[in-house]
Amino acid sequence: MRYAEIAVNVPLRPSKSDDRASYPLSLTFHYSIPEGMAVQVGQLVWVPFGARFCQGIVVALSDRSPVQETKDIISTIDPQPVLTGYQVELARWISHYYLCPLLEALRAMLPSGIERRVTTTIVPVAAGDEAKEIGLTTGQKSVLDLVRSRNGLELEEIKRGLRTKNVGAIVGQLMRRGLVIKLLEMERPRVRPKFAPTAWLAVGVEEAQKEVARLTEPARRRALVLQALLEAGGTLGLTDLCARVSCKRETVALLVKKGVLKKDAAGKSVSLAQDREQVEQLIRDAARGPKGGQARALAALIAQAGPLELVELYKIAGISRAGLQALARKGLVGLGEREVWRTPRARLPLLKKAPIFTPRQEQAWQEIQKDLAAGPRVILLHGVTGSGKTEIYIRALGEVVRQGKQGIVMVPEIALTPQTIQRFVSRFPGRVAVLHSRLSLGEQFDEWRRARDGLVDVVIGPRSAIFAPLPRPGLIVIDEEHEWTYKQQEHSPRYHTRDVALKLSELTGALVILGSATPDIATYQRAKEGEFVLLELPERIKVAGREAGERLPTTAPEVTSLLPPVEIVDLREELRAGNRSIFSRSLRRALEVALAAGQQAILFLNRRGTATFILCRDCGYVVRCRRCAVPLAYHQMEDDLVCHQCNYRTLVMDQCPKCWSRRIRYFGLGTQKVEEEVRKAYPQARVLRWDWDVTRGKDAHERILDQFLRHQADILIGTQMIAKGLDLPLVTLVGVISADTALHLPDFRTGERTYQLLTQVAGRAGRSLLGGKVIIQTYNPEHYAVQAARDQDYGAFFRKELAYRGEHGYPPYNQLARLVYAHPVEEKGRAESERLSRALRQCIAQLGLANCQVLGPAPAYVSRLRGRYRWQLVVRAEDVHPLLSETPIPPGWAVDVDPVSLL
Ligand code: ADP
Ligand code: ZN
Ligand code: ZN
Repeated sequence: MRYAEIAVNVPLRPSKSDDRASYPLSLTFHYSIPEGMAVQVGQLVWVPFGARFCQGIVVALSDRSPVQETKDIISTIDPQPVLTGYQVELARWISHYYLCPLLEALRAMLPSGIERRVTTTIVPVAAGDEAKEIGLTTGQKSVLDLVRSRNGLELEEIKRGLRTKNVGAIVGQLMRRGLVIKLLEMERPRVRPKFAPTAWLAVGVEEAQKEVARLTEPARRRALVLQALLEAGGTLGLTDLCARVSCKRETVALLVKKGVLKKDAAGKSVSLAQDREQVEQLIRDAARGPKGGQARALAALIAQAGPLELVELYKIAGISRAGLQALARKGLVGLGEREVWRTPRARLPLLKKAPIFTPRQEQAWQEIQKDLAAGPRVILLHGVTGSGKTEIYIRALGEVVRQGKQGIVMVPEIALTPQTIQRFVSRFPGRVAVLHSRLSLGEQFDEWRRARDGLVDVVIGPRSAIFAPLPRPGLIVIDEEHEWTYKQQEHSPRYHTRDVALKLSELTGALVILGSATPDIATYQRAKEGEFVLLELPERIKVAGREAGERLPTTAPEVTSLLPPVEIVDLREELRAGNRSIFSRSLRRALEVALAAGQQAILFLNRRGTATFILCRDCGYVVRCRRCAVPLAYHQMEDDLVCHQCNYRTLVMDQCPKCWSRRIRYFGLGTQKVEEEVRKAYPQARVLRWDWDVTRGKDAHERILDQFLRHQADILIGTQMIAKGLDLPLVTLVGVISADTALHLPDFRTGERTYQLLTQVAGRAGRSLLGGKVIIQTYNPEHYAVQAARDQDYGAFFRKELAYRGEHGYPPYNQLARLVYAHPVEEKGRAESERLSRALRQCIAQLGLANCQVLGPAPAYVSRLRGRYRWQLVVRAEDVHPLLSETPIPPGWAVDVDPVSLL
């Protein structure tokens, strides 16, 4: 007999009598596998559970069962496992490490709604055994007849087809008699693949590219001729001209015929027949020549490399129906109804190939190549913004794909990184699945199935894309590895993508590349200590304008170690000089310069800045907790200052304890207010605001970004999201309205957060040859995070921050776990958190755990949420697991191991 250990999908509720009870985290049951049923680890199955049928996931197979009595598995739901073997192991680790039920960890890996995608079919048993049919009731007989007549029918259809009640029960009786069996199947994707008039490439990419070159060649030649004439001052000898741009005389003749050029009487020389501006326009228009539509259509299809809907193609390429048919006649393009995958597709087709690497990139690449062959390894690629990290990811992925494996690329947020996604999609045409929370459930299911069925080479997505069921994962890239969005904070399992990736690497041998300009302190520490391979890319790549990227470079690009200059403005000085506006004199001047030059500016504001802390406007002093060193938060209700970590409280002072100034006040400024001020100060400027409030709508991000990229606005005001990996070539000025808001949130990671934000925002300036400038306004110019951001000196920041963490016992020196309890009645919440904190302290004493503390209870930073009061405990220890796996933590508590923030 074979047995399967199964995590069963039953809601686990502790019994009423004992609401303090907790259940074991890895609750599984053993079932026997009927003769002839093929069952694998990771498979979705139906099992009897009490009086019901439930779904479950097979987590192990064995020849023995720890329990005497086992029931049979009823059936498998899909012949293919829904989870790979390594994923089941990964789920066990998640369950243990993040203290969540195993089933929750398993389910986090499945596309949402999968359990509802199951249908039940009743099938007659073929071999007739008359004896089995003796004594059937009429009801039973009619069901059986119907099922036989149709040779199998969905349960729902039987119910609809017969007026008999309790069809379910009758089917059960027929099953016991062995007359019918139930088949449970995973539904085909509910959203059927979409069929639409499409076009696709009928030839290889290379051939298509040759054709693009051929089609655009005449136009390009003509442009070259005009260019040469412009440069020569308008007139050139015919022979000389043709030699210079290596073109035939016909090209010139055609331009003469069109009246763009004219020949002299002797026919020996040509000159421009139109004025300079007209000629320049003609050169720009050359790309849109008569065959331009065909060329662009081919380029779009190369980028898409799957069928592309015609409506889309017309829009992208501006090609005519005749043009398209010409391409089809030449055998380059196929036309017809085809299934289109609902992949969010690249909006701008880019003709891009692997560039020649700079020496630094080459050096990093050599190391990565070595590590790709070496089994589980982790690389930290520390490179400033624009240093060419993404190109390295792309090459590494290419190598992995050549080896027949797949890669995962993690991005902090899809909506904020459309340009990055686009680059991957266009470089692995047709082989990229984008997992996207804004896809419909059906679309998500489709993409998940493509990944599972080995139909893609690369999966891109935010957080949960790490659970893509790839058959042979070879590489996991985590771009901007320091981003907090990689941590699931909302619900269990509260996992961190980076740590899951490290575990995955251990389980599968995949290489992990963590990339960032501002790595997480803990990550950098691990790299310094030799646990990760540290690769540095300190130079920026000079990008020569936007169009340049579309030409294929033939040499390695120039690099520069110069980052845009950063100026710190001391707002206390501004105040002393009588300037009460939100713009310092410096920022005002710089804005005027940028606007006058027709360039763009970004004004950055930390959204969470509406948080209230108390700041002295004369000396910059901020009141902190003496025990935890985090800023105290102002509570209007009680007029108190509160530490959200240990509940230390103190009265609001009306004088600064440091300089006795009375100009002490709480702080907060929103993007709307900034927009108002900007409009007042620069009525002529076109202003765009980009924050969560204005970007609720679908595609709102893309729209705003597009508008700004097209220079339909001069100033972009935004929060965190504009700090992400956007490439905005016309931006020459970045102004940070106030660095302080990020600095004084009551959390131990605010220094790190501020440094990261300031550096990332600064990285948006001067990405083109126009150069750029960054201005950071602050009341705390001496703060090490601000100073390090000015000098763009990660090393200096790292040392200071590490010292601070060490002094107060914060990570990476200790591990933290945050426990939050919410209750509609404040007192109940307080009582329960006091009870648990006592229990934890008792447990520490009993186990004799050294260096293990419980902080709190204290009200959570967001102390009331949806009508519930939130209380929090923080456990601080070298390892929180001995304590937390020993102490029963009742349901109702949200446990967050390694929280990214205590807010
Ligand atoms: P990062 O990911 O570090 O921000 P990217 O890979 O996006 O850097 O590179 C910045 C810019 O430089 C991009 O426009 C990219 O296409 C270009 N680039 C990167 N490497 C090269 C190279 N070797 N040759 C030419 N252009 C490059
Ligand atoms: Zn002061
Ligand atoms: Zn405190």
